[in-house]
Amino acid sequence: MTADLARPALPLRPELVGLEPYGAPQLDVPHLLNVNENPYAPSDQVVADIAAAVARAARGLNRYPDRDFEALRADLADYLATESGVRLDPGQVWAANGSNEIMLHVLQAFGGPGRTALSFAPTYSMYPEYARDTSTSWVAGRREDDFSLDPDVARAAIAEHAPSVVLLASPNNPTGTALPAATVVAVLDAAAQVPGGCVVVVDEAYGEFRRRGVPSALELLAEHPHLAVSRTMSKAFGLAGARVGYLAAATQLVDALRVVRLPYHLSAVTQAVARAALAHSAELMAQVGSLRDERDALVDWLRGKGLTVAESDANFVLFGMFDDRHAIWQGLLDRGVLIREVGPQGWLRVSVGTRQETAAFKDALVEVASL
Ligand code: PMP
Repeated sequence: MTADLARPALPLRPELVGLEPYGAPQLDVPHLLNVNENPYAPSDQVVADIAAAVARAARGLNRYPDRDFEALRADLADYLATESGVRLDPGQVWAANGSNEIMLHVLQAFGGPGRTALSFAPTYSMYPEYARDTSTSWVAGRREDDFSLDPDVARAAIAEHAPSVVLLASPNNPTGTALPAATVVAVLDAAAQVPGGCVVVVDEAYGEFRRRGVPSALELLAEHPHLAVSRTMSKAFGLAGARVGYLAAATQLVDALRVVRLPYHLSAVTQAVARAALAHSAELMAQVGSLRDERDALVDWLRGKGLTVAESDANFVLFGMFDDRHAIWQGLLDRGVLIREVGPQGWLRVSVGTRQETAAFKDALVEVASL
């Protein structure tokens, strides 16, 4: 009784009771291949330019930053034009602390009580959390056995659930699957029929790693005002620690996100770091090319060992099938290689590392799985 008085109950929202925070284990091991980071640290030149930009920003830290981060939006629009050939107005670009926050803004603006967010599993495990945190109902349709999305299944799910937000990861995490443009268009067309409207987010966190010939949904923006394409500097740019995600959409959609953001959500330091890194995009994109080649070689090697491997357009590979995947994961960890136990039963996911890291992973896997 006394203890209860000393420690009154916290009015935790019922749907949060007993929940643990999301996150992969952060362990101190030699080879970190578990959260799809870019294995290459910024070069000395990039580090020097970031440091100089941060020093300049530091001189003005007594002031709040540019709330609308106009210079950064212009730089991001230029980068997207170079990367995908799609020229956008800076007002069509939004940014936040990682694409996680971008997606939260989308759900804050377009989800909410009485509304539904829809995606197709297996997919990124944060999606249901954005829904939960904004009191949006969550529905997960199914992908096919090869992790593709059947346009008819997607159309039927949209007609049935009338979501106000559809989240499509392409390339998908944890499977690596990219969606063909025709599938995205089918989803956009079905979403356009939802009474009250429906925003379709194509989450291209891994977009830069797509294979040649795979289009970006950015190409569909001009025709589809209810489309938003989300990107991040965490993967291809090798800037996960800076926390910069961004989104491209019609100005009207971006303006809705501006209403729900916290004032000054993107610090002056973050803006300075992002802009300094963007000035080096050519160098960073060359690295992306070599990671793509490493990825394709890894897929071939795993298949050569008789394993099942999902097609990948990302900087990671989902492979299996293992009767006891936890034992394989643990065996790799015991050998200093941390990968991710994620996805449907029997599968494991490994991020593409440096050549040396991939070699360490292969050696460990050969031992642990007796390949
Ligand atoms: N989308 C997908 C599909 C992801 O895999 C991730 C990161 N794992 C994110 C979004 C979020 O990345 P960030 O917040 O670092 O931009």
